[in-house]
Amino acid sequence: AAMASEEDCSGTAENGFMLPEVKFTKLFINGSFVDAVSGKTFETIDPRTGDVIAEIASGDKEDVDLAVAAARDAFDDGKWPRLPGYQRGRIMMKFADLIEQHVEELAVLECIDSGKPLLVSKLVDFPSVISMFRYYAGAADKIHGETLKLAQELQGYTLKEPIGVVGLIIPWNYPMLMFALKVAPALAAGCTMIVKPAEQTPLTALYCAHLAKQAGIPDGVLNVVTGFGRTVGAAISSHMDVDKVSFTGSTETGRVVMEAAARSNLKSVSLELGGKSPLLIFDDADIDMAGEICVAGSRVFVQEGIYDEFVKKIALSSKEWIVGDPFDPRVNQGPQVTILEAFYFHMLLVVVHECLPSIKVDKRQFDKILSYIDHGKREGATLLTGGKPCGEKGYYIEPTIFTDVKDDMLIAKDEIFGPVMSLMKFSTVEEAIQRANYTKYGLAAGIVTKDLNIANRVSRSIRAGIIWVNCYFAFDNDCPFGGYKMSGFGRDSGLHALEKYLKVKSVVTPIYGSPWL
Ligand code: NAD
Repeated sequence: AAMASEEDCSGTAENGFMLPEVKFTKLFINGSFVDAVSGKTFETIDPRTGDVIAEIASGDKEDVDLAVAAARDAFDDGKWPRLPGYQRGRIMMKFADLIEQHVEELAVLECIDSGKPLLVSKLVDFPSVISMFRYYAGAADKIHGETLKLAQELQGYTLKEPIGVVGLIIPWNYPMLMFALKVAPALAAGCTMIVKPAEQTPLTALYCAHLAKQAGIPDGVLNVVTGFGRTVGAAISSHMDVDKVSFTGSTETGRVVMEAAARSNLKSVSLELGGKSPLLIFDDADIDMAGEICVAGSRVFVQEGIYDEFVKKIALSSKEWIVGDPFDPRVNQGPQVTILEAFYFHMLLVVVHECLPSIKVDKRQFDKILSYIDHGKREGATLLTGGKPCGEKGYYIEPTIFTDVKDDMLIAKDEIFGPVMSLMKFSTVEEAIQRANYTKYGLAAGIVTKDLNIANRVSRSIRAGIIWVNCYFAFDNDCPFGGYKMSGFGRDSGLHALEKYLKVKSVVTPIYGSPWL
């Protein structure tokens, strides 16, 4: 992989971008930006350089209590849950318009905070964020129950009511997209909420809180409490007055969140967790298409007939991958991202996946990826390309491909969350299915074949929440996304996601003198 040169990597005016002033650094509670009760702050870091971008208010239990109290009032007595869905939708449309109007500034903030390439942020993430708000705005007045046909002179119907105060806990890899995936359906449903952005990437959520207020979302409906998982996250998931937690992050943390929910008020939980998704490339595949798609897989199974040719192709194409400053438009991979950013541009919408841009940037993640690479070598896998850090500053890792990987090696089993791909050879369809399913995760899978029967059979045999046939990372607002097995439960995106923020109530009443039952 080439490294973009230092002089065109400055990320300042030379690239046509002025680093923005960071305007919002405090907690957003009940419609105002406030310091943490403790007065503490933490640093958010620019992954390109390791420099401090800003000091952010560091919330704790007391701050979560204040935010939950505000959200509780806004839910129990405020107008948001009681507005006609159409009116909520109109305000959400305005929110989407404001995000669109501020997209230049927001995209730059997201880029400096997360290390995501600016073009990806501007051309993929933000259009998706904006359209996501519009999608759920349009759904806000289409939430309704059913009429029940009951026996014994009874009639019944169901109501779908907002679930209440919800805690939305978000990871760092898609700060704004995750915000939209959770906030938009929760708003449409009529919930009030406390958002906890990842400590690594708090800037854009705070900015959006300001825009939400401008759009007319009432005080207390959308609160943002920045801080750490063990403080803010834990206080939300164990809070007695929070009715639901919607969490995206690692499987380990998901378990902790669910335990806290179980020990407190048995709040409803939905978890979007890690993955180790397989991509299966069959002998009849168009090898160029397969090569393009394969940049996105973390476990890539290639049928024996095309394996050797495929390995050659992928080794060549990884050399053309440019790693470097995310502000540089030629760059495919930001600091410590995976092999696949370029592929983004083909996608309708991109959500997340374990091998996708682990754009995060912190030293801990960087060290973890390098230690997996080292482990892969020691376990006997062959390093085809990459494997080393690159660049002088910031946390950049070369796109790394291993061949001769065995199913039981750590690099084939664990979610690495970095630019590391394992290539494996298979012979029959049965073997491919069996090995693809040999994982505790079930987030996604890809299939590359021209044979419709193989595509259909494998799609139904793989235990994962989304299957891409002859494409990868193809998403749309209307497409539900979420896991099987230890990748979690509940769905983000699509009308299914609304259900997470709703409760069903049955109303039953006798009916007298009806001409029929
Ligand atoms: P993480 O689990 O460390 O953190 C996610 C969020 O949880 C952060 O906001 C963090 O502060 C918070 N948190 C940490 N400890 C907590 C606790 N004890 N209680 C409550 N909250 C706590 O994950 P991460 O490293 O930020 O994100 C990477 C992980 O997210 C990967 O495993 C990736 O696969 C997963 N992910 C999954 C999806 C999906 O849709 N399934 C999407 C994006 C990321």
